[in-house]
Amino acid sequence: MDSNKKGLNTLCTHEGDLEDKQFKGVVSPLYMSTAYAFDDVDIKRYPRYYNTPNQEALCKKLAALEHAEAALIFGSGMAAISTALMAFLQAGDHIVLQQTMYGGTYHFAVTQLNKYGIDYSFTDGWNVEDFEKEIRPNTKVIYIETPSNPLLTITDIAGVAQLAKNKGIVSMIDNTFASPINQNPIDFGVDVVLHSATKYMGGHSDICAGVVTASQEHIDIVFQSAICFGGSLSEYTVWLLERSIKTMAIRVKAQNENAMKMAEYLAKHAEVEQVYYPGLETHPDHELAKSQMNGFGGMLSFDLPNVDTSLFFKHLKLIKPVMSLAGVESTMISPVTTSHALMSPEDREKQGIKDYLIRFSLGIEEIEDLIEDIEQSIAKVKALTVSA
Ligand SMILES: *Cc1c(COP(=O)(O)O)cnc(C)c1O
Repeated sequence: MDSNKKGLNTLCTHEGDLEDKQFKGVVSPLYMSTAYAFDDVDIKRYPRYYNTPNQEALCKKLAALEHAEAALIFGSGMAAISTALMAFLQAGDHIVLQQTMYGGTYHFAVTQLNKYGIDYSFTDGWNVEDFEKEIRPNTKVIYIETPSNPLLTITDIAGVAQLAKNKGIVSMIDNTFASPINQNPIDFGVDVVLHSATKYMGGHSDICAGVVTASQEHIDIVFQSAICFGGSLSEYTVWLLERSIKTMAIRVKAQNENAMKMAEYLAKHAEVEQVYYPGLETHPDHELAKSQMNGFGGMLSFDLPNVDTSLFFKHLKLIKPVMSLAGVESTMISPVTTSHALMSPEDREKQGIKDYLIRFSLGIEEIEDLIEDIEQSIAKVKALTVSA
């Protein structure tokens, strides 16, 4: 059966399964071997060759979910991103990166690329023209992230992919915030799709991993760097990630639904100045988001100007103020003191990141319980500030 014709939950649950021929168990057996026979075999297997049985099984599932021909799994999202970038760049090359992006990728660009003689520029905005303006004769890669962190801006995936194609440039996207459930960039012409599997793929805040999906031709290029950098993931975690992805579509759809309801609730809240969520009709790129996303995702941000952020976090009982995102448990952070703390106040202001912005990762709890938690915490902080 053509895997593209199977439903999402079926792909998540079954695609790539290893059969337990010995005991007829229902889940993929876990092969922990780091040593495999090298003589008289078709495939010489080794963990850092990215071809152990469990890696191959999971890669089939990942490729099917991203509508790609092939995939590679890494020890973290940054291992996947840095390996993919170094696979397509060499001394004398130039890369165009989107202005707002994951802090770790930004850090990689500004601290590592020049060491290898690679030049980079950041765009001034998110429009296709903003990317076109930065292209030079030696540009080899265009890198986008949509929806972006933390303001959930939307980049025109097909527009940027076409621009890159016209100029013979490789296009890459960080698809972590959307997950393959909400967005499949390869359908819009992007060459290389990257994920921090630490987020929605793992989904339970207990796995660190990364993924690259692309055509076989592009994966072969990434593979040549991957065997040298050696960022492969341990077999047990590969197996755990396969287990996690079985419920990914169910989880992400529940998180989409919670985020939409939460965005609507916050948009009406007297203390909330603005809500950033691509699912809201008031979001400036709502139509673009609708045209390229199957769901609007479980991430949103909001401005809470007159309630002390750290006190608000302190009085939450259910929602956890922690750094990571995309787990089944709801979490919040203040970008100014965490993910974007290293950015200058001027740069933050230029990007529209206010000091009282809160980034919210919706979990799968009942929406009423989450709303109640926010209500009681705001009420407590207000009472404290009035009496003080
Ligand atoms: C977390 C994250 C990464 C980095 O992934 P790690 O698994 O922490 O290395 C990259 N991009 C985005 C959008 C992320 O949220």
